[in-house]
Amino acid sequence: SYRKGGYHAVRIGDPFSGGRYIAQRKLGWGQFSTVWLAYDTLSSSYVALKIQKSAQQFAQAALHEIEFLSAAADGDLQNTKCVVRLIDHFKHAGPNGQHLCMVLEFLGDSLLRLIRYNRYKGLKMDKVREICRCVLTGLDYLHRELGMIHSDLKPENILLCSTIDPAKDPVRSGLTPLLEKPEGNANGGGGSSTMNLIEKKLKRRAKRAVAKISERRVSMVGGEASSKTDRSLDGIDMRCKVVDFGNACWADKQFAEEIQTRQYRAPEVILKSGYSFSVDMWSFGCTAFELVTGDMLFAPKEGNGYGEDEDHLALMMELLGKMPRKIAIGGAKSKDYFDRHGDLKRIRRLKYWPLDRLLVDKYKLPEAEAKEFAEFLSPILEFAPEKRPTAQQCLEHPWMNVVSSQNKADNVESQMRNLHIKG
Ligand code: ADP
Ligand code: MG
Repeated sequence: SYRKGGYHAVRIGDPFSGGRYIAQRKLGWGQFSTVWLAYDTLSSSYVALKIQKSAQQFAQAALHEIEFLSAAADGDLQNTKCVVRLIDHFKHAGPNGQHLCMVLEFLGDSLLRLIRYNRYKGLKMDKVREICRCVLTGLDYLHRELGMIHSDLKPENILLCSTIDPAKDPVRSGLTPLLEKPEGNANGGGGSSTMNLIEKKLKRRAKRAVAKISERRVSMVGGEASSKTDRSLDGIDMRCKVVDFGNACWADKQFAEEIQTRQYRAPEVILKSGYSFSVDMWSFGCTAFELVTGDMLFAPKEGNGYGEDEDHLALMMELLGKMPRKIAIGGAKSKDYFDRHGDLKRIRRLKYWPLDRLLVDKYKLPEAEAKEFAEFLSPILEFAPEKRPTAQQCLEHPWMNVVSSQNKADNVESQMRNLHIKG
């Protein structure tokens, strides 16, 4: 990929934009880009430098992303809307061609890494609530104020706000001391010319960590989660922001029929029945479940005689009940999967396991906690897109405003103290 039209090879210390930005180390990569930690000599602060592959179609995609990031920045002058901030953008000429570069505020680890760090055991409800509040704030802003659909919401595209100063810890700046397989597609990134010794060493360590994690996951599926290896996230602030606007669109000006990453894809996208803001709400629901349980809500697989799409629809119905016939047969692709009664053509026997039971039986959530969370999540996973609550409505849901047992205890304590003082 480090050839003409591809990634730009970066070395530590490389200057960008006439020397304003100095590359520090690689933060991650995606299909179209590598992302570097860079020092901004003008503002004396750290930034994330997203360097796009150079070929025409990638430059086009970067311009698209810049358009949406700029719109998001223009409407959020105080930078409080939980969307990553675009600081600057420029072109950089390298041996592989011209690369569009975006300068973004520097953020920390993705929620995917957080889930891995927590060994796929799921986060405490209060942590999930904090994360959900940020993501919903971001979505409410994009949807209601900008008319924008993100179209690719998932744990990988939600980054924690970094709490660690990269200057003090240049090797690992996020919260995870555990460096796993870097994110991005399997065949992306990683030219050895740019990889220094430290990175290689960390990678080796990461491989071992990943192996351990997969062992753990297997035993989780067996339903015997032990708390021996619990990692404490106590005291860690769960503020986060939505990133990756490479697939964003305007609700009234859409570009693609097939949107979203498979596991987070809404039923109306699979069936090609048309979509709107509520596709992001579906992905949000899938993400919230994953934060609570550590497992993807839907992980469809192609099987004997049926494809991934049909398996995906079957998994949805096993969890949420039968899809109303009108919705099932209403899409341009409905005939591929459903007969005229609204039954799947190739997957006939469904094993129903409703959400609240799943949370208790498989994930061992306390009954009350499972019930409250299922009441929040179920409407978001409505088959009928127009019945799903908006981000704004979700923010007002009682579940979002539950006072945690810890906070209750703190309140009681402070009241007692007050009484004591008065007494
Ligand atoms: P792509 O569009 O190629 O998928 P992303 O914008 O998702 O690119 O970025 C790829 C990866 O780079 C992310 O998953 C994350 O690890 C890292 N990254 C992106 N933006 C930032 C940022 N602002 N701060 C820190 N890391 C970032
Ligand atoms: Mg991405």
